[in-house]
Amino acid sequence: MRNNSPTDSIQARLDAVRQHIAEAERRHGRPPGAVTLLAVSKAWPAADILAAVEAGQTRFGESYLQEALPKIAALPDKGLEWHFIGPIQSNKTKNIALHFDWVHGVDRLSIAERLSAQRPPHMPPLNVCLQVNVGNEPQKAGVSVKELPVLANAVAALPHLKLRGLMAIPPQADNIEEQRRAFRIVREALERLNGSGLALDTLSMGMSGDMEAAIAEGATLVRIGSAIFGERIT
Ligand SMILES: *Cc1c(COP(=O)(O)O)cnc(C)c1O
Repeated sequence: MRNNSPTDSIQARLDAVRQHIAEAERRHGRPPGAVTLLAVSKAWPAADILAAVEAGQTRFGESYLQEALPKIAALPDKGLEWHFIGPIQSNKTKNIALHFDWVHGVDRLSIAERLSAQRPPHMPPLNVCLQVNVGNEPQKAGVSVKELPVLANAVAALPHLKLRGLMAIPPQADNIEEQRRAFRIVREALERLNGSGLALDTLSMGMSGDMEAAIAEGATLVRIGSAIFGERIT
């Protein structure tokens, strides 16, 4: 369970993560502020999100729709930005399209088409990242690097979505060189898409255990859960 002593509070952990990001930007020649922090609040209650909001955090990531909807409803009118980062089943697309600002795990056209059709036209387009299965791991979601260009061009043409970039969860690796190799593949895939005429600005990569490597390879958004809220017990 998370230790709630003052020195270990959400505010203190958030400050430490922000500092880590700023230092990593400096170490790897990234401009200050190049990396956005997404606080992954899955498994934690709305009260913990509120503590992070009071510490200045506005962007939150959730993985499970049933868990996320009541939390979103409990925190209205705070200008929060909600990112859906979990696997997307087709029966979930409607509520994702209605209640989220971003979706990170899109990996097939049928899901993107549903999200676009179900996004209310009066709302801004839903921001989308395509998940890339960078290690070609059969148990993991994501489009292969090979099939990515066809999917990216099809999704970019959908009216109520805005294709922003790529997301990846690389295979577990304990050394930074191996971590960087995987993230580099994602960055190069994004560069190729931009070279072919798309205008993507987001590399959603890096979690609590590998954010340094992700920032070194060009992440523009890191998705950080346990380093802010504590270890999840599931
Ligand atoms: C849970 C989760 C995270 C956060 O992971 P931590 O290791 O807790 O930082 C990031 N991205 C996705 C897709 C997740 O499911």
